[in-house]
Amino acid sequence: MSETPRTTGFSTRAIHAGQAPDPATGAVVPPIYQTTTFAHEDIEKNKGYLYSRVSNPTRAALEQNLAALEGGVAGLAFASGMAAIDAVIRLLKPGDHILTQTNMYGGTIRLLHGVMQGWGIESSHVDVNDPKALDQALRPSTRLLYLESPTNPLMEIIDLRAASAWGRAHGLRVAVDNTFMSPYYQRPLELGADLVIHSTTKYLNGHSDSIGGAVVCARVEDADPLRFLQKAAGAILGPFDSWLVLRGIKTLAVRMRQHSENALAIAHRLKSHPRVKRVFYPGLPDHPQYDLARGQMSGFGGMLAFDLGSVETARRFFKALKLFPLAESLGGVETLVAHPATMSHAYLTAEERARMGIGDGLVRLSVGIEDVEDIIADIEQALA
Ligand SMILES: *Cc1c(COP(=O)(O)O)cnc(C)c1O
Repeated sequence: MSETPRTTGFSTRAIHAGQAPDPATGAVVPPIYQTTTFAHEDIEKNKGYLYSRVSNPTRAALEQNLAALEGGVAGLAFASGMAAIDAVIRLLKPGDHILTQTNMYGGTIRLLHGVMQGWGIESSHVDVNDPKALDQALRPSTRLLYLESPTNPLMEIIDLRAASAWGRAHGLRVAVDNTFMSPYYQRPLELGADLVIHSTTKYLNGHSDSIGGAVVCARVEDADPLRFLQKAAGAILGPFDSWLVLRGIKTLAVRMRQHSENALAIAHRLKSHPRVKRVFYPGLPDHPQYDLARGQMSGFGGMLAFDLGSVETARRFFKALKLFPLAESLGGVETLVAHPATMSHAYLTAEERARMGIGDGLVRLSVGIEDVEDIIADIEQALA
């Protein structure tokens, strides 16, 4: 398939990379190669595809596209974001150790503690923005520095440049979950990471209709074992979902700009609302890490949180909303609201949540691309 030059703009790559007209028919959109297997022309003679767990042309188009967007040498598409994270962790061996941050996607914590620990891979959670904390937690067996920024739901920023440099200096692989920002607003490989992870379920697909995941590698030394894992363990993304994500990515730039514009307008409006105690959005100049955010992201995205003070107020707010459902997930064109204390962070004790700053009155918004005045009107009538 085509090599879209790296010098082209982001949207041009999003629309064209990996997607030259189909060599068999000239189809402008990559066909959904819904086939398990591929005929050999002769013994030891084939067209490069043998069996769809190993490789499939629709998935290959998506993988090339993702590599071009994140600026890596290879992309790999998995059955879910968790399958992608699982594959990255399985680059380690029993006895190896992972250094990571304290607040991260709950599913990742569940995988680290509920699965990986049982297979002999331990992890330590520290303040990764503090080099002293990193130095103290480092073990001779540490192999992976695992990061995620911004964090859910308080939108704290990890200094990806500094943490990656520290990880590299200590001979660790550095992986970054870039789901919240998408490659349009943040490209961790350019900031020094070795691997970028996505739940394509969120902004990349963008339409809340496909579960998927991906890893993009800066180096072939990581791509080869990950490809082997795809083939050996088999948690691959199917052709139809690959096609959906490719289709979603074509509008990633315009969607991200609208998510971001809407979120900033809502953040400003919430900030001046008497019922709202605090707003968490990195695009607000009084966010404590506003400068850090501006230094590593080219926009602030569509995720924000705000504090209503108590679970009763939060419950009344959710009940009163007319347009937006209370639901897990994020990154779709529709606005979704969530209650971290009972949803994404329910696995923590109330005490742990309080220590992190996740109160019972905290509300998270995945701001969609509806007309922003309609979103604000619904929020304001529900707050009233
Ligand atoms: C949703 C999400 C995941 C997990 O992805 P799935 O596609 O649901 O398996 C991982 N990391 C982050 C930041 C997420 O938001």
